[in-house]
Amino acid sequence: MKTVAINGYGTIGKRVADAVAAQDDMKVIGVSKTRPNYEARTAVEEKGYPLYIGIPEREQLFKDAGIEIAGTVEDMIQEADVVVDCTPGSIGPQNLEMYKKAGVKAIYQGGEDHELTGLSFNAISNYDDSYGADYTRVVSCNTTGLTRTLSTIDPIADIKKVRAVMVRRGSDPSEVKKGPINAIVPNPPKVPSHHGPDVKTVMKGIDVTTMALLVPTTLMHQHNIMVEINNDVETEEIVEALEKRSRVIVVSAEEGLGSTAELMEYAKELGRNRNDLYEIPVWRESINVVGNELFYMQAVHQESDVIPENIDAIRALLEMESDNEKSIAKTNKAMGIL
Ligand code: NAD
Repeated sequence: MKTVAINGYGTIGKRVADAVAAQDDMKVIGVSKTRPNYEARTAVEEKGYPLYIGIPEREQLFKDAGIEIAGTVEDMIQEADVVVDCTPGSIGPQNLEMYKKAGVKAIYQGGEDHELTGLSFNAISNYDDSYGADYTRVVSCNTTGLTRTLSTIDPIADIKKVRAVMVRRGSDPSEVKKGPINAIVPNPPKVPSHHGPDVKTVMKGIDVTTMALLVPTTLMHQHNIMVEINNDVETEEIVEALEKRSRVIVVSAEEGLGSTAELMEYAKELGRNRNDLYEIPVWRESINVVGNELFYMQAVHQESDVIPENIDAIRALLEMESDNEKSIAKTNKAMGIL
């Protein structure tokens, strides 16, 4: 049983913790918080995770709040085979020094730069690159979404180039101070956005350029993807390949799943933990091959699509499973992923 520490118990960290706890070959040995808020309390009182503090000077605040702590992050990582760093982007470099000193392997999230680890991870496209490595980075929610479908399509269509427009949620549901509330914001206003270059960190050599904007919604991103292809393939062959691929689902607007709101309702119907939708839904009606171009539209539940990837990244780093598809299948089974 491998031991996993989760540094940063927010949107991503709390989901990674539950996903680790659902596996039979790894366990959570601790999670960390910097503030004694409701997440810190539920981590200890509802989930039973040992809680460590990210900023030792704040110990008294946790004591005053009556939240039991087990020690500091430095204590936590001593006990771990691997730490999954889910702190906000850009804290990574200072944490890397701490992990190196403790001799513990680490997995970062998409908010950090690829250069921090020199390795990025997606379970379908480049699992082997991180096998046995000390550090890797699970690419962002948007990059994970693009990579899952593009790496499914490439073997049959032989992708020449990709152009994608990413419509992004303005903030996560609990972020009351973020917007936009009433605007469509080119974000960034320059082209390309960082998503295309990020896909290249896990799909070497792919020609992909992205543009992105923010809209006033809190659940799900939506991608509009145009792919120039070299092979002569039928629309149905693309649909079939996407249907076969786990962690991707082909959905139908005609069946009532015509929007991100309905997709989130679907996740509730599935009875998922936190109503999460780990799979990338692709709209059946949007998939269309016209000459040498393929068009499709998909959505991304930003809080959850990267969670199973973190589990597979743990197995890769710790050399627990050399076959990516076996790790994917094991993770999927434990989490009820289609
Ligand atoms: P978050 O703000 O929800 O959670 C971050 C957590 O880290 C908080 O609990 C905070 O208390 C804790 N923290 C802050 N400083 C710390 C420190 N020095 N030591 C220990 N803990 C500390 O952030 P998030 O949305 O979960 O994002 C985490 C990472 O995941 C980022 O790299 C982000 O870019 C990436 N990511 C986020 C999303 C998303 O939609 N939220 C999707 C994919 C990837």
